[in-house]
Amino acid sequence: MSENTVIQEIKCMLSIEDALHQYLGIKPDRKSNAKSLNIKCPFHNDRSPSFTIWPQSNTWKCWAGCGHGDVINLVSKIHSFSNEDAILLLRKQLLIERKWPATVYTTWINNRKLLTGFKETKKQIVFMLLEIRSLFKIVLKQVTSFEDIDLLGDVYHTIPLIEKYLEELESREIEMQIATVKHLLPFLNKWRENCE
Ligand SMILES: [Zn+2]
Repeated sequence: MSENTVIQEIKCMLSIEDALHQYLGIKPDRKSNAKSLNIKCPFHNDRSPSFTIWPQSNTWKCWAGCGHGDVINLVSKIHSFSNEDAILLLRKQLLIERKWPATVYTTWINNRKLLTGFKETKKQIVFMLLEIRSLFKIVLKQVTSFEDIDLLGDVYHTIPLIEKYLEELESREIEMQIATVKHLLPFLNKWRENCE
C-alpha cells in the first residue's frame, strides 16, 4: 500500500472530532448541520473558543496561532510526534495495514518511550555540536598559512565529524539516534562542566 493511499485512508477513517475525543477526551458538541464548529483550543490557554473544526473537509485551525491542518498533523501535534510517526501510529491503530506485525509495533512503541526520555538530551547535544562547529568555523577563517593548518589539524578533522553526528541525530533510525546520543553524552557532560 503506497504512503499516499495510507494517508487518504487515515483522513477518511478518522475525523478531527473523533481524534480530539480519542486522544484528549474532548467531545466537541456539533449542531447537526453546522458547517463548522468552534471549541476551546487544546494547545493554548484559550478563554474563547478559537479552535475551528470543518467536518466536511476534516480540517482544523487555531486562530490564535497554534496551527492548522488535517487530522494527521493534529495527531502529531497532540503527541509531539513527527507527521511520519503519527502516520505510523494511525495506520496501526486504524488497522489500515493488518499485516504490520505486532513485534514491529511493540519495538516502535518502546523506542518512542526511550526517545521521549532523551529528547531533551538530544536537543542539548545538537545545540552543543552547533556551538562547537560555529566556533571552529571562526577559527578556520583566521587560517592564513600552511603552518596554521598544521596547528589546526584537529579542528579540520572535527568539523566533518560534527556533521556526521548531526546527520545521525536526525536519522530516521531510532537506534542510530540512541547510539549517537549515548556516544556523545560524556562530551555533553564535560561541555556543561566547562560552561559552568
Ligand atoms: Zn491554540
